[in-house]
Amino acid sequence: MQDKWKDNIEETEKEELMEIDDLQDDDDEDDDFEKICYMCRRPESKTGKMISLSGMTICPDCMQKTLDSINGSGILPQTLNMDDIKKMPNIHMINLADLQGHMPKAKKVKKKAAKAPEFSLQDVPAPHYIKQQLDEYVIGQDYAKKVISVAVYNHYKRVATNTMNEIEIDKSNMLMIGPTGSGKTYLVKTLARLLQVPLAIADATSLTEAGYIGDDIESVVSKLLAAADNDVEKAERGIIFIDEIDKIAKKQNAHSRDVSGESVQQGLLKLLEGSEVEVPVGATNKNAMVPMTTVNTKNILFICGGAFPDLEDIIKERLNKQGSIGFRADLKDKYDNDPNLIAKVTMEDLRKYGMIPEFLGRMPIVYTLEALNKEALVKILKEPKNAIIKQYQKLLELDEVQLCFDEGALEAIAEKALERKTGARALRSIIEDFMLDIMYEIPKDNNIGRVTITREYIEKTGGPRIEMRGYQPQIAQNA
Ligand code: ADP
Repeated sequence: MQDKWKDNIEETEKEELMEIDDLQDDDDEDDDFEKICYMCRRPESKTGKMISLSGMTICPDCMQKTLDSINGSGILPQTLNMDDIKKMPNIHMINLADLQGHMPKAKKVKKKAAKAPEFSLQDVPAPHYIKQQLDEYVIGQDYAKKVISVAVYNHYKRVATNTMNEIEIDKSNMLMIGPTGSGKTYLVKTLARLLQVPLAIADATSLTEAGYIGDDIESVVSKLLAAADNDVEKAERGIIFIDEIDKIAKKQNAHSRDVSGESVQQGLLKLLEGSEVEVPVGATNKNAMVPMTTVNTKNILFICGGAFPDLEDIIKERLNKQGSIGFRADLKDKYDNDPNLIAKVTMEDLRKYGMIPEFLGRMPIVYTLEALNKEALVKILKEPKNAIIKQYQKLLELDEVQLCFDEGALEAIAEKALERKTGARALRSIIEDFMLDIMYEIPKDNNIGRVTITREYIEKTGGPRIEMRGYQPQIAQNA
C-alpha cells in the first residue's frame, strides 16, 4: 500500500518536472518572437531596445513620454532623462503602475450648463383653461377662441410627447380668416403671452422669394429666434404669425414671375411642414459676418391670418350655384345679406381665391372671426383686463382724478368706430383724439376730482362733466 502511495508521489514529481521542462521550452520559443511595447504595441525592431519593468516591456519613446508627463506634473526633477534612468542602479524596481497613478488624468469635459427642463405635458393648459384666459382679454369670437384653444392644446401635446404610439399627430397650423380689426393679431399675441412662448409676427406682403428685394421667407424664423433671445430650443416651440396671408394669393392671369405671391406660398411649404432652416443669429438677413444656427420648424406653430376681401363673393357664387339646382332652388339673393357668410368658407373657395392646394393642405385648421358689432365694440372699450378706458382711468388716477364714461359716450365711440370700417382698431384713435384735451386740461386745476365723458362731448355738441373735489356726487349731478 505504502509502495503504491510512494509510486504515486514519484509519478506526480515526474509529471511536475516534465511541466517545468515544458515551461522552459516555452521561454525558448518566446525568444523567437519580438518584444512588443506594452503601451504603443510597436515591436522592438521598430522602437529600439525595450526596457523591462515588472514583467512589462516599454519602448524608449513611451518611457520618455511617461517621464516627460511626470516631469510636467512636477514629481521628478526636470533634468531627468532617459540616460539618467538607464544609469539608475535598480531600474527594475520602478513600478509602472505607481507611475501611472501620477500621470495627469485626461480632462473630463464638463457638460454644458443645465438646459431648461424638457417641455412636458403638464406645462400645457387644458383647452377650457386656455379659452377662459383668452376670454379675459378677447371679446366675442367665441368660436375662434374655442378652435384655437383645442388646436394649441393638441399642438403642444404633440410637441411634449413627440409621437403617440407610432401615430404621428399632424401639425395644427391654422388659417384665420376675419375682417380687419377683428382681433386676429390680438388673439395670437394674447395666446403667446398666456403660454409664455416666443412669438414672431410677419407680414406676408413683405416676403418675397429668396434673392428678390424684400425679406426672404426664412427671415420669419430669424424673427422668432430673436424673440426667443437666440435660444434655439425655445424658438423651436414658438409661434409664427403671418399676417395678410391673402395678399400672397396666386395672381390671376399672371404672365410674369410671381415672386411675391405663389412663389412665397411655395417657399412657405417646407417651413409649415417642418424642416431644418439655417438662420443668422442676431440679424434678419444672412451675410458673411453673422454666425448661423439651425432651427427645426417641426414644432413651431404657424398661424396665418388674413381678411380675404371678396372671398364672400366666391362663397356666394358657390352657394348660389348649389342652390339653383333642383326643385328647391334658392332665390338668387338669399345670401346677399347673410352677415355670417364668411363662416361658410371651404377649402375650395380658398383655392379659387388663389391659395395653392399644397399650402391649404398644410393648414388643417381653418376658422373665421366675425366682424365686431356695436355691442362688441362697447365691451372691448370697457371689459378686457387691459381695456383702453381702464388704461386712461389708471393714468388719471395718478393725478387723483376719477375718470368716468357714460354708457351713451361708449356707444357713440363704437358708432364712430363702425363708420371707419377698421373694426376695433379705430377705437383707440377715436379715444386718443378727445382724451388729448382732457389729459392736457385736467392737471391744470388741482380741484378737479372727477371727469365724466358724455355722448355730447364725443359728438362735439357739449363738454365733459367736471366735478370738484369734496362735492357729493348727487349734488354734482343735480347741478
Ligand atoms: P386684426 O384682425 O386686423 O389683426 P388686431 O388684432 O390688430 O386686428 O386688432 C387691433 C386692436 O383692436 C387690438 O390691439 C385690440 O386692442 C383690439 N381688438 C380687436 N379685436 C378685439 C377683441 N375681440 N377683443 C378685444 N380687443 C380687440
